[in-house]
Amino acid sequence: MLGMMMHRPLSIISLLEYAAEAHPDAGMVSVRTEGDLHRQSYRECFARTAQLAHALGKLGVKPGDRVATLAWNGYRHLELYYAISGSGAICHTINPRLSAEQAIYIINHAEDSVIFVDTHFVPIIAGLKEHLPSDLKVVIMTDRAHMPDTEFEALCYEELLDGQPTTYDWPEMDENTASGLCYTSGTTGNPKGALYSHRSNVLHALMVAAIMGPGLGQGANVLPVVPLFHVNAWGLPYVAPLLGVNLIFPGAAMDGPSIFKLMDSEKVYSAWGVPTIWMGLLAEIKAQGRPPEGFGDVVIGGSAAPRSMIQKFEEMGVNVNHAWGMTEMSPIGTHGAQPPRVNALPMEEKLDIKQRQGRRCWGVDLKIVGDDGQRQPHDGKAIGELFVRGNAVVSGYFKNEEASAKAMDADGWFGTGDVASISPDGYLTIQDRAKDLIKSGGEWISSIDLENVAMAHPGIASCAAIGVRHPKWDERPVLVAVAADESKPTLDDLRDHMGEHFAKWQLPDDIIWVDALPLTATGKVSKLTLRQQLSDYKHPEVA
Ligand code: ADP
Repeated sequence: MLGMMMHRPLSIISLLEYAAEAHPDAGMVSVRTEGDLHRQSYRECFARTAQLAHALGKLGVKPGDRVATLAWNGYRHLELYYAISGSGAICHTINPRLSAEQAIYIINHAEDSVIFVDTHFVPIIAGLKEHLPSDLKVVIMTDRAHMPDTEFEALCYEELLDGQPTTYDWPEMDENTASGLCYTSGTTGNPKGALYSHRSNVLHALMVAAIMGPGLGQGANVLPVVPLFHVNAWGLPYVAPLLGVNLIFPGAAMDGPSIFKLMDSEKVYSAWGVPTIWMGLLAEIKAQGRPPEGFGDVVIGGSAAPRSMIQKFEEMGVNVNHAWGMTEMSPIGTHGAQPPRVNALPMEEKLDIKQRQGRRCWGVDLKIVGDDGQRQPHDGKAIGELFVRGNAVVSGYFKNEEASAKAMDADGWFGTGDVASISPDGYLTIQDRAKDLIKSGGEWISSIDLENVAMAHPGIASCAAIGVRHPKWDERPVLVAVAADESKPTLDDLRDHMGEHFAKWQLPDDIIWVDALPLTATGKVSKLTLRQQLSDYKHPEVA
């Protein structure tokens, strides 16, 4: 027997429509490319989104068309998120840090009909233009006064909106209609597209709001340093209007001093981003001798949050929420909101737990599978490849059957490529990305574990542990590190410091000092680049 309840399709625009009516006091603050600070309520945003939807229609955008964005975090980008999806088209966010080759590949693969570009990224489009479809329309996201000179034909965002009606007859669509497209950075092979739907994004927003909402509270100021141009800024564009929290958009200014200044002046309570961003903020906090005013919570994900980083934040009274996820999961899979029992623990024990990647969100199922293909127990000891299943997890890749077939197992679970264990009380520990594990003499060493302990040494600001080829042991760990100051520890110092936590054979054989670690397009340490740089590395004893 079926229940007798209405079926209303889940729709993305309903989130903003709701905020415009139910959270009239909330909205967003944006550091604009024009150089000033811009404020707008969700109500104003909803009206402008309607104008933009009319403008998209005038540009010939039809349901199912892909409309691209190449922009920093700001209010116009948020308007695009809602107007594109709300009118039935697909919002394809492009990461400006991709290589030219990757950007050309994805724009052509997605068959974008229009691209909206921040003024900062006009040179990128100018450089790519000859490789892009000739009928691709380019809209520059500014007003007439700030329009740059371009060699190609470009439209002006504010002019498109001008005079358009501030209401729109938002179409009712099947909730499975595609709403957004985001390509993985593609560290190997071509980027692969995750094609989100209205249903998946709304359910993702609800599941994130359910766990993050109580900690935030209505009216909180939240800073997404995590970009709108990649993985839906961890869902915040949808979660924030739902919760009635304010979004503080940093635009292009993401260095430590700029983030500190913005957080301080806007009294940001919760800030979301990858560990490399927080390195910059922590350095500025040290320089200022205090955290930004009102700062109480930080969400860290994208790569493992180092234990020493979690400790620094916690010691200044900032709660660390260590989350894990991926593009293919919309992206959040686990969260680090803790029960009171954990928050009451002494620091070291609390860090033991917060260092893990948290517990699964509702709607995300996790399983670990051993080398023998068998499902492993959640006993905190067994390690295997992590597979996921859920309402906001991809069922394949956009127009890529080969990659889709590879990613899914026979039971329809998605293989993450991460190696993990799960404790009896539900905590996920990511040991490593399978390709980053270091294989020495047939035994595995977790690069994340090595980095965590090495970074607890006061002489090391940041580091990456890499497996380098070794004639006898297959691979051996080497540490590539950035020094905290002039007094660099010696290899012996470091090995002594790490010896407490590791067997001797697990310790790094060498330490290579660099000024900075190479980053991927999503701001993570690029171990691929480091491995390439070290491909000719000669092991000291072999040289
Ligand atoms: P991209 O490299 O395209 O940005 P994703 O953002 O989808 O790709 O990256 C997902 C991967 O990032 C995960 O599979 C995992 O390896 C890593 N990751 C994400 N969060 C964490 C975390 N908290 N700890 C360790 N690894 C993480």
